[in-house]
Amino acid sequence: MNKNTNEAPALQIQILPVTPLQQNTSLLWSPQTGEGVFVDPGGETEKLLAAAEQNNVKIVAVWLTHGHLDHAGAADEIRERTGCLVIGPHQDDQWLLDDIEAQGKKYGLSGGRNVKPDRYLKDGDTLSLDNNEFGVVHCPGHTPGHVVIYNQKGAFCFVGDVLFKGSIGRTDFPKGNHQQLLDSITAKLWPLGNDMRFIPGHGPISTFGEERASNPFVGDAVLVGK
Ligand SMILES: [Zn+2]
Ligand SMILES: [Zn+2]
Repeated sequence: MNKNTNEAPALQIQILPVTPLQQNTSLLWSPQTGEGVFVDPGGETEKLLAAAEQNNVKIVAVWLTHGHLDHAGAADEIRERTGCLVIGPHQDDQWLLDDIEAQGKKYGLSGGRNVKPDRYLKDGDTLSLDNNEFGVVHCPGHTPGHVVIYNQKGAFCFVGDVLFKGSIGRTDFPKGNHQQLLDSITAKLWPLGNDMRFIPGHGPISTFGEERASNPFVGDAVLVGK
C-alpha cells in the first residue's frame, strides 16, 4: 500500500491466498525495520514462512480478525516456529478458536490447530507496527468476536469476513446475526471513510466508497428506509 509522500517508505503488504477456501492471509511489514505480522494465517504455514523469509521479514505477531479455521488455523504453529505473539480476535470468538481442530475434521481442512491468543482485542484498542498505528473495531455479526483492524493514515484495513467486494459475510453459522452484521458495517466501518481500502478474507480488494455505491447488501441505496 504505497502512497506517494515524502515520508518514510510505507508499509508493504503481500496477499497470500491459503487453504482450499482461498483465504487471504496478509503479510504486512515495515521495510525500515524488517518487522512484520501475518493477518489471518489460515493454513499452509510453510508457504507463509517462506514468503516472510523471501522478503527478509521477521514475524513479530499474528493478528486475527476472527476465530474461523480458515483464518486462524496456522496461528499457533506460526507462534511456535517464530516466537511471535498471537493478537486478537475479541474474546467472544474463543469458542471458535477452541474448535479449529474439530472443524478441520468436519470440513476436511487438515493441519489447523486450536489457539489461545496472547492478547484479545476489543473496540477502541490500538496496535502498532514500526510507529504505524492501527485501530480496532469490534464488528460482530459473522462471528460474535470479529474485529476489523485499520490504518487511518494509510487508509487501508483488514475486514476478515465482515465485508467483501459486492457481498457481505455469511450469517448462517452458529451465533451469526444478519442484522448485527449490517449494523456493524454501516455504524462502525462506514465512518472510517469512503477512501478506506479493505482487504477482505476472500476475493479482491475494494473501498468502502465503492461498496456504499454498489454493494447489493449494504449499498446506501439498498439500505434507504431500512
Ligand atoms: Zn469466517
Ligand atoms: Zn473466511
